[in-house]
Amino acid sequence: MLLSTFVDIIGVHPTLSKLQINDIHQFIAIARLLKVHLSHQQPHYLTTPPTRLPANIHEFLQCCMSLSDETLKIAWEALKTLIWEEDTSDKETSLKKMYLPLFLRFGLSRNISFIPLYPPIRTCLECRLHNTSQNSDHILGEGRSHPITIFTQECGPIPGYTHSLYCRKCNTRYHPDYYVHSKATRRTYYGTSLAYLQIATHYYIDRKLAELFTSMMVNAWTSATNCARIYNESLIASSSITDVLPPAWEYRLHMKVEDVWNTFFLQALLLDTEEHANLLELPHDASSQAARLEEAIQSRNALMSGTGQEHWNHACDLCCWVHTDAMGTPGYLRSVVVDGISIAFTIAQPPCHPCKTDSALLIKIMTEFALLPIANTPLAQVL
Ligand SMILES: [Zn+2]
Ligand SMILES: [Zn+2]
Repeated sequence: MLLSTFVDIIGVHPTLSKLQINDIHQFIAIARLLKVHLSHQQPHYLTTPPTRLPANIHEFLQCCMSLSDETLKIAWEALKTLIWEEDTSDKETSLKKMYLPLFLRFGLSRNISFIPLYPPIRTCLECRLHNTSQNSDHILGEGRSHPITIFTQECGPIPGYTHSLYCRKCNTRYHPDYYVHSKATRRTYYGTSLAYLQIATHYYIDRKLAELFTSMMVNAWTSATNCARIYNESLIASSSITDVLPPAWEYRLHMKVEDVWNTFFLQALLLDTEEHANLLELPHDASSQAARLEEAIQSRNALMSGTGQEHWNHACDLCCWVHTDAMGTPGYLRSVVVDGISIAFTIAQPPCHPCKTDSALLIKIMTEFALLPIANTPLAQVL
């Protein structure tokens, strides 16, 4: 904020001159973190800040700032436009972590979570798609919130709330990462990039953490057990919020192995459907998240088998060795990537398109596994 802007504000609202500069700076920073909550408490078409703060947010700011009721109202009146207009969300990661303890201490009891999880839309996709009603019927309402734990990469597990909205016209309920339709039997994930994924009832995960687990499993063969163990023992222990986590929070704040597997498969399915410009649709009514994912995983496996992979018929001089033995019989050796022993080939990345693998390294690996003497036998049979 420019000093001249600050002077102008004080000129119009002299009450604020009694506050410290740091107090005003803190008020602006915390209020900006509440913008999503505030937006969802006013009509969806309004893009301006609310004239007055909702009661729960007013109380929350009062607790955080130790300001009088009247001073807080004046502060909002004076600073709301400044708070609303400047989008500093990208710059506020460190600030967010600084204010997290306040959200845990004063926000949870007022249905205010540090990470605001709302549906990404305010009007009904299904009604718009099927054109079954007038525009006014598209507006979602009947909001519900549920307590959750969000596993984050930067701050460890954070207690919070998830919010959903409902379309009375077509009975579709919209959650932060998917919407439930077809008489509550199916759920469809939004096509937009999702920052958080629900991995079990009352549990969400930060997408960046999902990507980290995927990288750990693919590049370092970290087991799901060890992903959970590393998260619980390292990321949580090093988090600065451990001391302010509510001890009586109803939902666990440690990660289970099942969470890692649910994350890995959901993340993989979403990446796969995004790559094919489709939307992921899963059964909603399922006994567990694992059971919910099963059908989609099997379908994806069926697509990938046989000729489903992009380079299924690839062959070149780096990964295919054509030769003639002493009897004059031609033969060839083709490298494949499967499981088990062929992990060695995965290290060398023999599928050489588009990578440029060193063929000498590949042959060295093959030699170590004593595969060269039976070079004209398909490798899959050898394994
Ligand atoms: Zn609808
Ligand atoms: Zn090749």
